[in-house]
Amino acid sequence: MCGVFGIAGNSEAAKLVYLGLHALQHRGQESAGIVVTHGDGRQFHRHVGQGLVADVFTESILDRLEGDRAVGHVRYSTAGGNDISNAQPLMAETLKGPLVIGHNGNLTNALRLREELEHQGAIFRSRADTEVILHLFARSRAPRVADRLREALAQVEGAYSLLIMTKDSIVGVRDPSGFRPLVLGKIRDAYVLASESSVFDLLEGELLREVEPGEMIILENGGMRSERLVHAPEALERRCIFELIYFARPNSRVFDHDVYVTRHELGRQLAREAPVEADIVIPVPDSGVSAALGYAEEAGLPFRHGLLRSHYVGRTFIEPAQAIRHFGVRLKLAAVRSILADKRVVVVDDSIVRGTTSRKIVSMLRAAGAKEVHLRISSPPTRSPCYYGIDTPTKEELIAAQQDVEGIRKYVAADSLAYLSVEGLHAQVGDERGPRQKFCNACFTGEYPAGNIPEELRPNSHVGSRFD
Ligand code: AMP
Repeated sequence: MCGVFGIAGNSEAAKLVYLGLHALQHRGQESAGIVVTHGDGRQFHRHVGQGLVADVFTESILDRLEGDRAVGHVRYSTAGGNDISNAQPLMAETLKGPLVIGHNGNLTNALRLREELEHQGAIFRSRADTEVILHLFARSRAPRVADRLREALAQVEGAYSLLIMTKDSIVGVRDPSGFRPLVLGKIRDAYVLASESSVFDLLEGELLREVEPGEMIILENGGMRSERLVHAPEALERRCIFELIYFARPNSRVFDHDVYVTRHELGRQLAREAPVEADIVIPVPDSGVSAALGYAEEAGLPFRHGLLRSHYVGRTFIEPAQAIRHFGVRLKLAAVRSILADKRVVVVDDSIVRGTTSRKIVSMLRAAGAKEVHLRISSPPTRSPCYYGIDTPTKEELIAAQQDVEGIRKYVAADSLAYLSVEGLHAQVGDERGPRQKFCNACFTGEYPAGNIPEELRPNSHVGSRFD
């Protein structure tokens, strides 16, 4: 998963991208990068580095990134992909000038395309699937940027919300299914394309609208125009439901849903579906907070901060080694004995992936004196891996793919465990099987949008790690 931000027409473009990336930092912490240019597009400056936005950029680096048009990227890598050559935005020289690309999503046929391109002599500099788009774009002979992009993207499958910068434009494009979010807005006179609307809260800008699935927004000569990528009927739309459940920031509007309100409603729905006799409701911070508030409200139980989160460590899920993840939960969360002692506690989180976090949390709550621990999850069991950009492990590691709810309850050692139902989820965010089929919920149902998982992405294929 990643975040992208682009701005055209502001003399402090790189500084605004830098700040915008801060508001998107939750979408990726592995690397950050900015590429900037002037209106004439003669000189491009690029700086990328591994780590958090605040660590990658210093004041003097930002001072050197002069220009009025810029794109930036924060990257969340999957296994094996944590390498500086994969840091984005990627940049290449083409016959028609420099080409810059930042990608959020996951292409499902990138390996095959890459092999074909390599057979034809292409030399790749990274392992990122995004570089495939760069090669395809550079090969197109179409005169207009939009047509070159159309030609390139007609060959790729999967999820992409992309920002492309050329010598005279920035183009934002969303795949026809619209898996990943992308919004259009304004900061004063400058148009902005970003993964989430949270950037406008920070930068005092204005959200104009979602970029539609299959739409290209072209920022050029101070103006904005829209073109279609392909004919993209609404039936194709498959917005990632997990963005609303976990990934996006609660102050964002994503897919025309207010993220906080949605999570709060999921919590209420969960309380209706899975009530329990208890004294207090506590969230797993931060991911469970909005849903726990909804649960507590609906259940008429007091909401308490029974777990405190340290904000000085990153998301533990991102640590690749199992041993570190175990330790990380205790580094990250502390239980508050005065709140928990002798209480029957409902603890709410948004999801269970491997189950390691929940297991640690339940044992921490008991060690802090909780009399009973009832775990409530504001999404259905995560049973199938995502091939469209969310970093989920293989089926073997997904606890809900291996065990039923009672088996998971035993593993995490809770007194009771309940998940939100698929129907309950869709009752809140939109109809699963209605005429529009707006969402991809394959992580919960195993029903992948394209029908089949591409051979090259099957868990036992020769490829050990996925692109992100
Ligand atoms: P686990 O210990 O593997 O069950 O992890 C569960 C925790 O990871 C929950 O608190 C979730 O909020 C969080 N989580 C779920 N999906 C992801 C993801 N793709 N990236 C990072 N964290 C996640």
